[in-house]
Amino acid sequence: MADKRDYYEVLGVEKGASGDEIKKAYRKLAKKYHPDLNPNDKEGAEAKFKEATEAYEVLSDDNKRRQYDQFGHAAFDQTAGGYGGGGAGFDGFDMGDIFSSFFGGGFGGQRQNPNAPQRGRDIAYNIDLTFEEACFGTEREISINHLEKCEECNGSGAAKGSSPTTCPTCHGTGQVKTVQRTPLGNFQSVRTCSSCGGKGTIIKEPCRKCGGKGTVRNGKKVRVKIPAGIDNGQQVYIRNEGDAGANGGPNGDLILNVRVKPHKIFIRQGYDVLCDYPISFVQATLGAEVQVPTIDGKVSYTIPEGTQTGTVFRLKGKGIQKVNSTQRGDQYVTIKIEIPKDLSESQKDILRHFDEKVDSSKYKQRKSFFEKMKEMFK
Ligand SMILES: [Zn+2]
Ligand SMILES: [Zn+2]
Repeated sequence: MADKRDYYEVLGVEKGASGDEIKKAYRKLAKKYHPDLNPNDKEGAEAKFKEATEAYEVLSDDNKRRQYDQFGHAAFDQTAGGYGGGGAGFDGFDMGDIFSSFFGGGFGGQRQNPNAPQRGRDIAYNIDLTFEEACFGTEREISINHLEKCEECNGSGAAKGSSPTTCPTCHGTGQVKTVQRTPLGNFQSVRTCSSCGGKGTIIKEPCRKCGGKGTVRNGKKVRVKIPAGIDNGQQVYIRNEGDAGANGGPNGDLILNVRVKPHKIFIRQGYDVLCDYPISFVQATLGAEVQVPTIDGKVSYTIPEGTQTGTVFRLKGKGIQKVNSTQRGDQYVTIKIEIPKDLSESQKDILRHFDEKVDSSKYKQRKSFFEKMKEMFK
């Protein structure tokens, strides 16, 4: 996994490449490395082909590309168990399928072959995290319900000990010819065989477990790893845990839609954490040693003498860990000076007395403001 190449590098395109450029680059590579076109180095070509296809699969999908740009390969290898090495997610992956699905449309758009491998559907799962879980990452066991390949028949749909047989209606071609007699002559048309749905084979004895479908719906618990630094609205892809593919096609993915609950005190901005911190005007005037909350716990901070309301101080490295990095954002604390209310007469007297003792030169902002005002009305 460590040596997995950057997807942009694999396709030989710039980070900001357009969808068209990516498609073009992949098309070129897929032609160059298609194993059937490389009989002398089938294995080497196949590896290159898979690598390019994997890169294309991610970069051609806006969502996945965004994830990749942000998290790198980590965005797609999140299962706690882990999938061995790079490309393992493509087990059962059929070259012909992706090749024809990619080039098929461009070259005349032939009807989809019912025997072609098909990728299974992606399934979505909403996952709710606390602010802290999103900051530090977490592991969850979630229950999903997806289609799996039927183990009983190994996906063939035929009962144990039997196998699909050639369709007697179309004799295995998947198509039937019909002749329509009309006053203008006989018209021959070809249509998909309805007995076998174009597959050319039928299952005489369907598998008892899956009823001939080759897949079964199964509830399953999956352990998922949410990377530290994930934010509300982002997605985590768990490879292969979607629905099973058909005809040997790859499984779909399980897509976790991350929702982060708001925090009571903190607001997140990128990887920075923002919060307000209320202090009394006495603390602001005299300075104070205070305890400031951070996502790591409380830290001491010395508020200097004469701190104004709205002053922002930065706690370096106390923000959120960046995904795929050891760096962290910062925390920004905004000072809010709170004015006391409902004071008693004796308390008010102290303040009046205080005010008489303090001359206007101690209030810089007021002083300059009133000078400007005087100027204005001269
Ligand atoms: Zn079965
Ligand atoms: Zn048939």
